[in-house]
Amino acid sequence: MECIFCKIVKGEIPSKKVLENEKFLAFHDINPIAPVHVLIIPKEHYEKFNDTPNEIFCEMADFIKNVAKELNITDYRLITNNGSNAGQEVFHLHVHMVSNPNGKLKWPKLV
Ligand code: 5GP
Ligand code: ZN
Repeated sequence: MECIFCKIVKGEIPSKKVLENEKFLAFHDINPIAPVHVLIIPKEHYEKFNDTPNEIFCEMADFIKNVAKELNITDYRLITNNGSNAGQEVFHLHVHMVSNPNGKLKWPKLV
């Protein structure tokens, strides 16, 4: 069975796209935790950060910077939950980009 983000890549599940190239896709999170909450994924399926080739993650860094440009934001936080105890619910590597264009983001205690 294909994962939910693979279905988004194929267009089988709709998403609000921010930016796309042949290898990566950025789209708005369906349940945002900040005024800006975008998910950035490789189109190829890797379960989590730990399984992702370094070259892919490095290439994604450049794409992430272009997403920030597209959104016209300079200040943002990147989060990748690696594994269920870290909060990962969708097992297709993704980076959360969160931002509050009108002020600071909180830095909450996590335990
Ligand atoms: P995780 O907890 O795995 O780090 O993050 C998964 C994220 O995917 C969550 O923030 C959740 O709101 C988002 N999400 C889950 N299903 C969908 C969906 O079908 N569409 C979109 N746009 N986001 C989703
Ligand atoms: Zn997938």
